[in-house]
Amino acid sequence: FSFQQNRGGIGSFSSGGKIPLGLKRKGLRIVVTGGAGFVGSHLVDRLIQRGDSVIVVDNFFTGRKENVMHHFGNPRFELIRHDVVEPLLLEVDQIYHLACPASPVHYKHNPVKTIKTNVVGTLNMLGLAKRVGARFLLTSTSEVYGDPLQHPQVETYWGNVNPIGVRSCYDEGKRTAETLTMDYHRGAGVEVRIARIFNTYGPRMCIDDGRVVSNFVAQALRKEPMTVYGDGKQTRSFQYVSDLVEGLMRLMEGEHVGPFNLGNPGEFTMLELAQVVQETIDPNAKIVFRPNTEDDPHKRKPDINKAKDLLGWEPKVPLRKGLPMMVTDFRQRIFGDHKEDGG
Ligand code: NAD
Ligand code: UDP
Ligand code: UDP
Repeated sequence: FSFQQNRGGIGSFSSGGKIPLGLKRKGLRIVVTGGAGFVGSHLVDRLIQRGDSVIVVDNFFTGRKENVMHHFGNPRFELIRHDVVEPLLLEVDQIYHLACPASPVHYKHNPVKTIKTNVVGTLNMLGLAKRVGARFLLTSTSEVYGDPLQHPQVETYWGNVNPIGVRSCYDEGKRTAETLTMDYHRGAGVEVRIARIFNTYGPRMCIDDGRVVSNFVAQALRKEPMTVYGDGKQTRSFQYVSDLVEGLMRLMEGEHVGPFNLGNPGEFTMLELAQVVQETIDPNAKIVFRPNTEDDPHKRKPDINKAKDLLGWEPKVPLRKGLPMMVTDFRQRIFGDHKEDGG
């Protein structure tokens, strides 16, 4: 198990102190699309741990074999290099559909590919769910609320999204994915679940994916200044990955379609986040200001009452507890195991 820890496992925080979901049903066949990515690989760890058979479907655009390598050789684990934009035939009980780049830098890199992944990729996985009678869970996003005019965001809010902006391939893509999911549910009777995920961080995030937590942590470790975009007063609410994985599994196993906000309501300005990173890594870490990106949402914070009431879920790991676990992983990956500067 120490090997798994070294690979950035989220360890004892993953079960959240509750009855393991796996005790209910055993031996399911589960597809995780995007399972070689950041969130997907942590989900795969939990599913394997509870005794399920897992097929990861991933095209390795932002995912890495290293994230799931510790399962190689396990007969209950299978890894398929496949792009979800192409049809796929499998026989399974559940589909966790995560395949889609999540960081703005990655999803803007090839916007047409991003929207194809969201629309055609989701259509294919829903077609698969329909054909084999599998339950389907979509990982949507808080970005469906756009630059929100309601704060905090409740699931009933329809959002404020620019349909022709640089983020549209992602936020409009996910909105269409939600529409498709509900239409397969209403029209074809597919059992579906929708999660709207808020900013999540933790071990195994891509080091240079441009997201704010990974940027600040990598910059502080490398003794580079932390790049705050705009005036740094915009807010986000940061969720540790084990809390998200627990929420996704409860949603899949529960009776409710959703959508459900899954996020940590602890809200921080980017300047406050930089301060927490200073406290955690280096009190002397510097800050530099950079121009902000287009259409950047000014604030974001989930209302999670629905998930609390109907899924019995809420996050357990505050930023100041979760960040050090991510820093350990980043330190190992940036400086290597020989710790020339790991300190
Ligand atoms: P990630 O980029 O680490 O993982 C995405 C995975 O999908 C990668 O392994 C990538 O290779 C794979 N992928 C991308 N396009 C694919 C395609 N066409 N075919 C097959 N595989 C493909 O991102 P993540 O943070 O783990 O996000 C997982 C999911 O959660 C995404 O759907 C994302 O939109 C959603 N989400 C994440 C966050 C967050 O803060 N991490 C927030 C909101 C929503
Ligand atoms: N699909 C798939 N795997 C399956 C079943 C369907 O990839 O096991 C794809 C199929 O190729 C199609 C999409 O899912 O592009 C939607 O399938 P559906 O049967 O709902 O619609 P249709 O094929 O009638 O358009
Ligand atoms: N951000 C920042 N510095 C960085 C990267 C991002 O100040 O190096 C800001 C960005 O402008 C946004 C917030 O951090 O306001 C969150 O950005 P991220 O890309 O992590 O996720 P988003 O919530 O925008 O999808």
